Amino acid sequence: PAALFWFRRDLRVEDNAGLYYALTSARRVHCVFVFDREILDALPTRSDRRVEFIHASVVELREALRSHGGDLHILHDRAREAIPRLAAELGVDAVFANEDYEPDAIARDAAVDKLLAAAGRRMHRAKDQAVFDKDEVLTRASQPFSVFTPYKNAWLEKVDDFFLGAYPVAKHAGALAPSPLPASMPSLEDLGFEATNLSTVGVVPGTAGARALLANFEPRMHDYHKARDFPGVKGVSYLSVHNRFGTVSIRELARRARAAKGLGPATWLSELVWRDFYFQVLWHHPHAAEGPFRREYEAIRWPDDPALFAAWCEGNTGYPLVDAAMRQINTTGYMHNRLRMVVASFLAKDLLVDWRKGERYFAENLNDFDLAQNNGGWQWAASTGCDAQPYFRIFNPVTQSERFDPKGRFIRRYLPELANVPDAFIHAPWTMDAVKQAASGCVIGQDYPAPVVDHAVQREKALALYGKVKGAT
Ligand code: FAD
Repeated sequence: PAALFWFRRDLRVEDNAGLYYALTSARRVHCVFVFDREILDALPTRSDRRVEFIHASVVELREALRSHGGDLHILHDRAREAIPRLAAELGVDAVFANEDYEPDAIARDAAVDKLLAAAGRRMHRAKDQAVFDKDEVLTRASQPFSVFTPYKNAWLEKVDDFFLGAYPVAKHAGALAPSPLPASMPSLEDLGFEATNLSTVGVVPGTAGARALLANFEPRMHDYHKARDFPGVKGVSYLSVHNRFGTVSIRELARRARAAKGLGPATWLSELVWRDFYFQVLWHHPHAAEGPFRREYEAIRWPDDPALFAAWCEGNTGYPLVDAAMRQINTTGYMHNRLRMVVASFLAKDLLVDWRKGERYFAENLNDFDLAQNNGGWQWAASTGCDAQPYFRIFNPVTQSERFDPKGRFIRRYLPELANVPDAFIHAPWTMDAVKQAASGCVIGQDYPAPVVDHAVQREKALALYGKVKGAT
C-alpha cells in the first residue's frame, strides 16, 4: 500500500510521530506540504516573519527528505481540497498527519476526512505536538484539570522514557518515495509575500535553527530558574517558534530537561508542561478561543479607548518597560515571557481595553503565535482564565520594571531615547525634574511620552470593573 504524509506544524523528519506511522504502515510514502491559501490569504499583511520562517523550513525539509531518497510535494492551494485531490492523483490508500488541536484545524481536518472517505480513503492522525494531549492526563475523578500545579504533578507522575522516546524515522526511511510529479517550489513572492527582517533579528528557521538554539541553551539550562525572569539577560531558550512549527521535537526537549537534573532543568520542564496544559484546556473548552474561560467575565464593559490601545500597540504609553516590550515584539516578533505578562496586564487592567484586542495583536505579530498558548497567557493575565491570576492582583508596571530590569538594560536597548536617563529614573522618567530631563536629553512629552494613564487611578477603576462583575462592590 501507498500513503501520503501531510506536514503541517511538524516541519522535521527526525522523531516525527505521524511520519513514522506512515512509513511503518505503507510500502511507499509520498510527502506533501501545502501553503494553505485559506490561512495565508487571511493574514493582515504581506510581510509576515512566520511565512518566511515556514518557507525556509520547508526548503530545508525537502532537502532532508531527498537525502533519505524521498521528496516533498509543495502546493499553494486550499488544503481542504488539495489533499484529497493529491491523494487521488498519487493513488494512495491513506493519508497520515500529526494532530492539530486548534478549532480551525479541527474543522479543516473534518472536511478533508469527509472528502477522503467519499473516495474510500482514510486519514490517520498521530500525537506529535504535545507530550500528553486530550484525555491523557486527568484528575482522579477522570475530569480535565483546570489548575496547573495538580496537572503538572499528574503529568510528571505519568511521564517516563516510553512517552519521550524518539520515533526512529531514519530506520524506516527506505519507504519514502521519490516524486512522480514535476517538483515545484513557490518562492516567497509567488506566495504573495515579501522578505522580512527575520534573519537580521537572528531567527534561523528549520531544524538547523532549532539545533543551534538548543546547543546554546543546554549549558544555560542550569541557571534557568534564576535567569528566566530578566529580559535584559539571556536566560531563556528562544525555542518557542520552533515548538510552534515543529522544527524540534517536544519529546526531545522534555527528554533533555529530565536527563539534566536540578532546579534549572526542572523549572524549564515545567514550562513545557504549561504548554501541554494550555493545549488540553483549549481542547476541553473550545469556547475559550472566543471569550473568557470564566463566562461571568463576559459581562465586563471595557471602556476600550482606541487612543490608549494605539499607544499600547506602538509602544508609546510612557511606561518604559511596557513600551520597550512592545517595541521588541514590533521589531522582532518575539517578546520575553515576563514582559508578555506585564503588557497583557497593563492593557487590561491599566488601559481598560478588552484583552481580546491584545490577544489578536499578539496573534498577528508573534513569531511563536499559538492559539492555545496565547489565549491561555492572555486569560491568565486578564484574570478571566482557568488557573488565572486573581483579578485584584494587578501588576504595577514601575515595580515590575524595578524588579526585573533593575538597571534598565532591556529598556535602553529598545528605547534609545532613554539611553542617558539615570538608573534611578529609568522606570518612571516622568518623575525627573526639568533640569534632569534636559541633562539626560529626554524631555518628557517631547522626546518620550508622558504616561498616558496614572497607574494608581486606573488600578481603582479596574478593581471596580471586575468587582462589579464578581458582585464584590
Ligand atoms: P522558554 O522560557 O525557554 O521555555 C521553553 C518553552 O516552553 C517555550 O519555547 C514554550 O514552548 C514553552 N513555554 C514557556 N513558557 C510558557 C508559558 N507560560 N505557557 C506556555 N508555554 C510556555 N507562547 C507561545 O509559544 N505562543 C504564544 O502565542 C504565546 N503567547 C503568550 C501570551 C501571553 C500574554 C503570555 C503571558 C505568554 C504567552 N506565551 C506564548 C508563553 C511564553 O511567553 C512563551 O512561550 C515564551 O516566552 C517563549 O520564549 P522561550 O522559547 O525562550 O521560552
